[in-house]
Amino acid sequence: MPPPLHVTIIGAGLAGLATARILRDGNHDITILELLPSNHEVGAALSLGPSAIYLLEPLGFDRKRCRALTAVGSRTYDKEGRQIHYQDMRPFAVANLADWLMMHRVELWEELYRLATAPGHEVGGCGRAARAFCGAEVVGVDVQSGGVRLKSGEVIASDLVVGADGIKSMI
Ligand SMILES: Cc1cc2nc3c(=O)[nH]c(=O)nc-3n(C[C@H](O)[C@H](O)[C@H](O)COP(=O)(O)OP(=O)(O)OC[C@H]3O[C@@H](n4cnc5c(N)ncnc54)[C@H](O)[C@@H]3O)c2cc1C
Repeated sequence: MPPPLHVTIIGAGLAGLATARILRDGNHDITILELLPSNHEVGAALSLGPSAIYLLEPLGFDRKRCRALTAVGSRTYDKEGRQIHYQDMRPFAVANLADWLMMHRVELWEELYRLATAPGHEVGGCGRAARAFCGAEVVGVDVQSGGVRLKSGEVIASDLVVGADGIKSMI
């Protein structure tokens, strides 16, 4: 196996945490830096399509922990409340070898956080747990040296930097 890398992931959103879970199989030394003080996901529903579930479940994703429901159909209504469309979602699951799941955003975040940071024996014996730091704002990355600069002035040396800082990414 190649030597482990010092990986710094910027952003503990869904993408940053999922990336940490995938990379920990390589036994890398993973640090996740999150600007906000703690779990900041809010109470919306979220659906994950079969292709996402197909990827996540072999990584230890536990649908029961997320209290996920299987979507079997989707109805669309007009503003008078008349149903104008029905989509049977079960064929998508069959074609893609996994279900289409609906869950609470906060619970998905918590499950991905667990997969990224829990000890190996709790998540199927995979690699080294990532370390996550909240309230750690990144203000710059030196792409030549791999130095990740925090607002506090600290610089974290990294072999690999992953910018998972969202749609308005500055990384
Ligand atoms: C209303 C709504 C409904 C949606 N529904 C679905 C759905 O049903 N299914 C689906 O798959 N997708 C859905 N999406 C899309 C999905 O929410 C996003 O694609 C997903 O959250 C993006 O995750 P991310 O980790 O890339 O970014 P984010 O969740 O934005 O995470 C980025 C993280 O980086 C942190 N960050 C930013 N800058 C810095 C910095 N300088 N230093 C350190 N940390 C930093 C932020 O605080 C944040 O925590 C929906 C989106 C919306 C708005």
